[in-house]
Amino acid sequence: MSIRIDGGVVVGWSGDAHEIVPNGSVLIDGNSIKSVGTDKSQSADRVIDASGKIVCPGFVNLHVHSQLNIGDYLLTDVTKKDYLSANWFVFGAPLKEKIEAPPPAAVAMGRKYALYSALRNGATTVLDPGGGPGALDDYVAIVGLTGGRVFFSPPFRSHDIFTDAQGRHYYEERADKGRPGLKVAVDFIKKFHGAHNGRLQGILNPAQAETCEPSLLKESAAAAKELDVPIHIHAGGNFREFLEILKNHRKPVAEYLADTGILGPRTILGHMAITGGHSRVDYPRGNELKILAETRATIGHCPHKCAKMAFAMESFDQYRAAGVRIGLGTDTYPLDIVAEMRYASLISRLVDRNASGARAADVFNAATIGGATALGRSDLGRLAAGSKADLVIINLRTTRYGPVRDPINALVEYGSGADVETVIVDGEVVVENGRSTRIRDDELFAQAEAGAQRAWDNWPARDWSNRTAEQIIPPAFPTRKK
Ligand SMILES: [Zn+2]
Repeated sequence: MSIRIDGGVVVGWSGDAHEIVPNGSVLIDGNSIKSVGTDKSQSADRVIDASGKIVCPGFVNLHVHSQLNIGDYLLTDVTKKDYLSANWFVFGAPLKEKIEAPPPAAVAMGRKYALYSALRNGATTVLDPGGGPGALDDYVAIVGLTGGRVFFSPPFRSHDIFTDAQGRHYYEERADKGRPGLKVAVDFIKKFHGAHNGRLQGILNPAQAETCEPSLLKESAAAAKELDVPIHIHAGGNFREFLEILKNHRKPVAEYLADTGILGPRTILGHMAITGGHSRVDYPRGNELKILAETRATIGHCPHKCAKMAFAMESFDQYRAAGVRIGLGTDTYPLDIVAEMRYASLISRLVDRNASGARAADVFNAATIGGATALGRSDLGRLAAGSKADLVIINLRTTRYGPVRDPINALVEYGSGADVETVIVDGEVVVENGRSTRIRDDELFAQAEAGAQRAWDNWPARDWSNRTAEQIIPPAFPTRKK
């Protein structure tokens, strides 16, 4: 199947950078891009009119947990009451005795919803650092069904995080030290890496910097090398983690990770916002940015998530100036990689008090080639002959925008994943007019609503003090009593 996309403002590729091709034409042959230019004479099975629209490389979202957003609503307010533990474990770490695996059907639905939602918002490639536990065959089937490109294997750790009866968090070494988890991940990658014509790719996910002992990280690095896959690890994502690693290893996170040998050009550090010298951390600045730059690891920067918890990476521009590679991820809902570019830009400007910082080009690069490079893929994140045919078409000619002078500036300044009309992955149109061509997204949404309601209703059963969702995060307004 060949597709020609005509008349749009095409974000092409000069060989080493994005460039704009006005009134362009992109020819797709099979699952790759054959040409990007202005010639509209080449024959194709299907022609898509993209006049007045921007034709972008598909975005790379480096942080999509394949699960519903039931916890995200609890994130913003609850952290104020238990700030040291900010991030998910304020509400997410279970009481050990209350752990109950969610039903497989609920896990499968959450996975499907998240992977589709990220795709519909314009991310043709996502890195999934892990959702709920559940059947791995289901996961593979869901990737095949939703149609996006996914890097995944199940996460593992040597230490679990629990909440005790007083609401205090603690780490506990697993009896198996996480090794069976690593083996499950390795076996998953051996079996499924490259499934669905390469759309499912393996990546190793040692879960969080402070939940993996150094020897497990060393073994993970060796396994990733042998399997020839990238690594993702959550690191520098909250203050609790920073203190835990200081306490146990007497050094800040990046230094600790570097010493385990896990940092390298295909290592992605989810968040990495908290470092020594951060304005909220009473610990001196060290060599962390230098270490990150020298090891060529990539930060999976999720500015919206940090902002929800009232802190920021300091800053997008300062990391770039230090030579640190940066990609973008959403982590929290909405899984809107287009809006995430705006958060990255505005929050960096606020941190640096620099109105001309974090330029649109820089955050666009992070959301495209930054992520692709981290995943070791020079055929993603750019529209060039020979690249994978992964692209999105976004309508800029709407009254939501107003007249557009420069398409990339406008997209970063005003854009939303909701503006994404068409998504093409591996040469196949998987979203058209904002709707999936493969699944009933209205049915999926109804299932997600019902699943979320069940989880919120059952929240007291898993909370350390039996709080309801409303007690943890009071509603914005009271409900009128009849
Ligand atoms: Zn995460």
